[in-house]
Amino acid sequence: MTTWTTPASIDDALVRIVAGATPVGGGAALYSAALAPLLGAVAVDLAGVLEAGIDGDTIGAKTTLEALAAASTVRRRWPALAEAAEATANPNVRRLATLGGTVAARLPTSDLPAALAAYGAQVVRLVPAAPDAADTSNWAGLASSGRPDLRPVAGVGGGGSRVDEVPLGRYLSEPSPPHIVVGVRLTTSGPGCYRRFALGHGPAPAIATVAAVRQADGAIGLWAGAVGPTSAPLFFRPDSLPEPDQLRSDRRASAAYRARVVAALAIDATAWLSEQQS
Ligand SMILES: Cc1cc2nc3c(=O)[nH]c(=O)nc-3n(C[C@H](O)[C@H](O)[C@H](O)COP(=O)(O)OP(=O)(O)OC[C@H]3O[C@@H](n4cnc5c(N)ncnc54)[C@H](O)[C@@H]3O)c2cc1C
Repeated sequence: MTTWTTPASIDDALVRIVAGATPVGGGAALYSAALAPLLGAVAVDLAGVLEAGIDGDTIGAKTTLEALAAASTVRRRWPALAEAAEATANPNVRRLATLGGTVAARLPTSDLPAALAAYGAQVVRLVPAAPDAADTSNWAGLASSGRPDLRPVAGVGGGGSRVDEVPLGRYLSEPSPPHIVVGVRLTTSGPGCYRRFALGHGPAPAIATVAAVRQADGAIGLWAGAVGPTSAPLFFRPDSLPEPDQLRSDRRASAAYRARVVAALAIDATAWLSEQQS
């Protein structure tokens, strides 16, 4: 049985997570047996300690996918991201699901990563301020050591914790120390669009997604999502499509099939973006 806890502050939440508790954002994953995180003995509800909304280039982790899709700032500055949020799941899930939980879930079929990567996303995390923070092998020992520097303190980044940033691709493909995603910082903006292909009617996990964004030099950058061995998207150019050996084969689609889907989505997205410019 799981005990649900409400942390007094974000640092308090981190202390609990370091001690083995499971963070919960919107809790949307709990709606599906296929996705549900193993909550373990203690769950930490992050709703009261995370920020929603947009501050400059950073989107707060508590921002729901519904809010992300509707925000005029997102539609104007990061249109491919607004489209990806709108294409995710169904209205009930989008109302609950948070940006932080969606990124942290690292689902291989996730819709958001390609669009986030297309805008140069950096994942902003709260991590313990241990000197050996980069060494994930030390975290299990740290959790049980009762380190005094991990006592709850007020405010993000104070005393027992610090804020760091990692590129989205690295975050999605490498293990992280215990952490809380507090936001996502987008380093570029610009015209863009998002395409996805899924089998089946209604909301269904993507077979492949493509985000296309016009970059500062005028070239179109393309990112393929839901196709790789992890949820980390793949960058490619219109004239150098991902090869099948970079892609995932699973029971829903072979790597060769995914490569063809990515090619078709890329042609469509590139044509749409080019039309907008002319
Ligand atoms: C019916 C259904 C249909 C779906 N369809 C799609 C779809 O079409 N496309 C798609 O991309 N996704 C789809 N999903 C997945 C859905 O988008 C994710 O479950 C949801 O976005 C997760 O966000 P959340 O805030 O609810 O995270 P939670 O469910 O709260 O948590 C997800 C994971 O992230 C961890 N976590 C949560 N917040 C944080 C944080 N701030 N910091 C660190 N760790 C954290 C949790 O411990 C857990 O492991 C679907 C889900 C359901 C239930």
